[in-house]
Amino acid sequence: MKAKVPMDEFRYSSYAQEIIFGPGSVNRLREAVDRFHWDRLLLCSTGSQRRGGHIASIESALDDRLVAIYEHVQPHIPDFQIAEVLELADQNEIDAVIGLGGGSPIGMAKALSLALEERRTGRPARAAFPTDQPLVPVVAIPTTYAGSEMTPTYGITHHVDGSARKITVTDVKVTPKLTLYDPLLTLDLPSEMTASTGINALAHCIEALYSITRNPLSSAAAFSAIRSIVSALPRCYANGSDLDARTEMLVGAFLAGTALSHVTMALHHGLCHTLGGTADVPHGVANSIVLPHAMRFNLDVTAAQLAQAAEAMGIPRTGRSDEVAAEEAVQRIYALIGQLNLPQHLRDVGVHESDLPHLAQMALQSRAVQSNPKPITGATQLEEVLRAAW
Ligand code: NAD
Repeated sequence: MKAKVPMDEFRYSSYAQEIIFGPGSVNRLREAVDRFHWDRLLLCSTGSQRRGGHIASIESALDDRLVAIYEHVQPHIPDFQIAEVLELADQNEIDAVIGLGGGSPIGMAKALSLALEERRTGRPARAAFPTDQPLVPVVAIPTTYAGSEMTPTYGITHHVDGSARKITVTDVKVTPKLTLYDPLLTLDLPSEMTASTGINALAHCIEALYSITRNPLSSAAAFSAIRSIVSALPRCYANGSDLDARTEMLVGAFLAGTALSHVTMALHHGLCHTLGGTADVPHGVANSIVLPHAMRFNLDVTAAQLAQAAEAMGIPRTGRSDEVAAEEAVQRIYALIGQLNLPQHLRDVGVHESDLPHLAQMALQSRAVQSNPKPITGATQLEEVLRAAW
């Protein structure tokens, strides 16, 4: 039986953010920081950004305004790292925090913003109203296509009784107040990270199109992002220094992140978070393996929305049903993932078949899974999707 997934009613929050996009835009960081009157900034980043010279660019742009650097953020952000960076931020009396790199350092900057506010005020920092502003604003400078720079969400991996579990937090206050998109910072993004985080951006678009909370803006952003991504991602993968391709891909990531920021994600994202937090699969790799299977699981209920994705991918629609167009979109995405040499099976990334029932149980608790357009009523359905991806 087909459930209807209508869009005749919608509501969403928009966020007060300044976006600066363009090659060399990182050189405008100091001007923006002065304008916002931020005097003491802390930078969250990773070793790859130090080796690539990007941290040095921020150091020279900010000079003595940059008072502390935490440069070994781990993927999926283990909880003990939040405790470490909180101490560093406290000692240095910071008034803003920068996340430079992929979704992990940007997520750490968000987590730090809330934690520091709670420490300073002694009260819960969670926003009561969509207009609430943070005490310690976040600046995001992305170097991957993961999209966190546009969203009010971050994930932290908690370790309890020897088991790891990734928890996502959504709060308008952590949405970066300033996002700098500089395609020059992405020229050295390794091909595997280019491919996998590019597929993560594509997955944001697919799940935004069929999200139960989608709205006309999120769908328009997702449609446009898919066009940019399918055009630019193979070119970025083939030649990482192609600035035109890198720029078009970053526009796609911006639009995908915009779509993501307005809507609830679904099955695909719930499974990827579980695979990341519990089985330690890198986020982009989990996306690459799961996406075609999540699309196929949802196809009967979301054919009309997946047919929009097909259209954005340039798949001809004439004379075809939504279901046929949607199935072709699934196949094209599977082929693109193969063409980008990304893993396509969970068994190839260290997940054992015997892990699947536990992973399905964990994923069942995910808000994203519970928001899937095709209702998920038990772990068996999730295990089937995981098994197909195994
Ligand atoms: P990541 O930030 O975990 O980085 C992965 C690796 O890529 C790291 O080793 C990093 O050093 C390296 N890297 C990043 N940029 C590089 C560059 N320019 N050159 C060389 N190496 C580079 O990866 P990600 O996929 O960007 O982010 C994934 C994380 O972000 C996950 O925790 C995911 O849950 C989260 N995420 C959050 C949102 C959101 O809306 N909040 C959206 C997408 C992803």
